[in-house]
Amino acid sequence: MEVMIIGGGAAGLMAAVTAARAGARVTVLEHQSACGKKLLATGNGRCNLTNMKIAPDAYRSHAPEVVSQVLRRFTVKDTLDFFRGLGLYTRDKDGWIYPYSMQARTVLHVLLAEAGHLGIRLQTQTTIQKILKQGRWRLHTSAGIYEADAVIVAAGSKASNLPGADGSGYALARSLGHKIWPVLPALVPLVGEGDYFKQWAGLRMEARITLCADGRESRREIGEVQLTDYGVSGIPVFQLSRYAVEAMHQKKQVVLFLDLFPSLDARSLEGLLREMKQQAPHRDWQEILLGIFPEKFCRIAARHTDKMSDTDRPRALAKKLKRWKVPLKGWQDYIYAQVCMGGVDLQQVRSRTLGSKLHRGLYFAGEILDVDGTCGGYNLQWAWSSGAVAGRACTGQFTE
Ligand SMILES: Cc1cc2nc3c(=O)[nH]c(=O)nc-3n(C[C@H](O)[C@H](O)[C@H](O)COP(=O)(O)OP(=O)(O)OC[C@H]3O[C@@H](n4cnc5c(N)ncnc54)[C@H](O)[C@@H]3O)c2cc1C
Repeated sequence: MEVMIIGGGAAGLMAAVTAARAGARVTVLEHQSACGKKLLATGNGRCNLTNMKIAPDAYRSHAPEVVSQVLRRFTVKDTLDFFRGLGLYTRDKDGWIYPYSMQARTVLHVLLAEAGHLGIRLQTQTTIQKILKQGRWRLHTSAGIYEADAVIVAAGSKASNLPGADGSGYALARSLGHKIWPVLPALVPLVGEGDYFKQWAGLRMEARITLCADGRESRREIGEVQLTDYGVSGIPVFQLSRYAVEAMHQKKQVVLFLDLFPSLDARSLEGLLREMKQQAPHRDWQEILLGIFPEKFCRIAARHTDKMSDTDRPRALAKKLKRWKVPLKGWQDYIYAQVCMGGVDLQQVRSRTLGSKLHRGLYFAGEILDVDGTCGGYNLQWAWSSGAVAGRACTGQFTE
């Protein structure tokens, strides 16, 4: 049996190894000069390959039941066993799993070594022009025509600045009649409305962030926020970003409220500021704040309350610091995103196999599907699970 896999990323390589182990002759068609370029960029080059706390609510999709089913068919334990079987030793950082080497290259290395061992053909620098079903599958490519019994489309999304992430997989899926949910960046920095961002650029501050769309507060995240010259970034911002982007896309008014002193409530913070002023009445408010916050930020915070008397100032400052309002006006481009929301509609694939309901012998895996996860190894786990399910199913190992 001949299997063609379009895309040599995390999902494509997992599908290739799985299908080859089940006895298929496998070719990976990759349009870049090498496979796994995005994998090398993951986790700041360290590759957070999965998470011990995988739960369906870490994922968003229009068909969450399909996501749950796939994650149950190839679990975190299966993933850890799989990589252990390839000789990869891992480490656990609060449930976030990394290669012990803390190098994404190690993960790619073991996958490529196994691909080599199994005789998987990695056909790089190959562009797919069209896919036709004429009895068998016929793939017209820049390297000639390939025939196959099964095709797995694992071409990823448009996220990242890597040249391979051009979204061309969506066009291939569409050409085969598959519906694509609108694709937008998720896990992406957010652009704020304000004249002071250049002044706080470069700061990192602990904050609890609340997302508010059309006056309704929805999600909260806590962690280190990166303050940038356009707005905000960092893990807690990424975690909220897909909801913020979706709401802005629906033309809602979206605001982030940053609690920049999460360890004290507003009254206690007010008390602390009053006490600090009493102890050093000769200091102005900017100097008082210098004992707590980074200098660049103190200037902005003091300016925001500079019309007030010393009596009113502690309350106003505490209120401001506990609920710093950042109205949003957009999000950064795909090249700054880690994943995309939207993609191939999961209602048109079979939940047990990820096989197309429109064409026999056509499968999908990875981020090209309408699934996005939060930060923490969830997106790679989806790539491993969906790759393994599609890889096994295309050889007849998983059936409906
Ligand atoms: C900077 C960054 C950091 C990240 N860090 C993490 C992390 O630590 N943990 C985590 O879980 N997730 C992380 N992610 C997300 C994760 O990398 C992706 O969700 C995952 O790689 C998706 O796997 P995939 O195989 O579906 O797509 P990809 O890994 O993008 O692979 C798709 C492959 O298909 C190729 N391709 C595309 N179109 C075609 C075509 N038409 N013909 C042939 N080949 C094609 C591409 O060149 C690419 O090699 C990160 C993403 C980024 C950008």
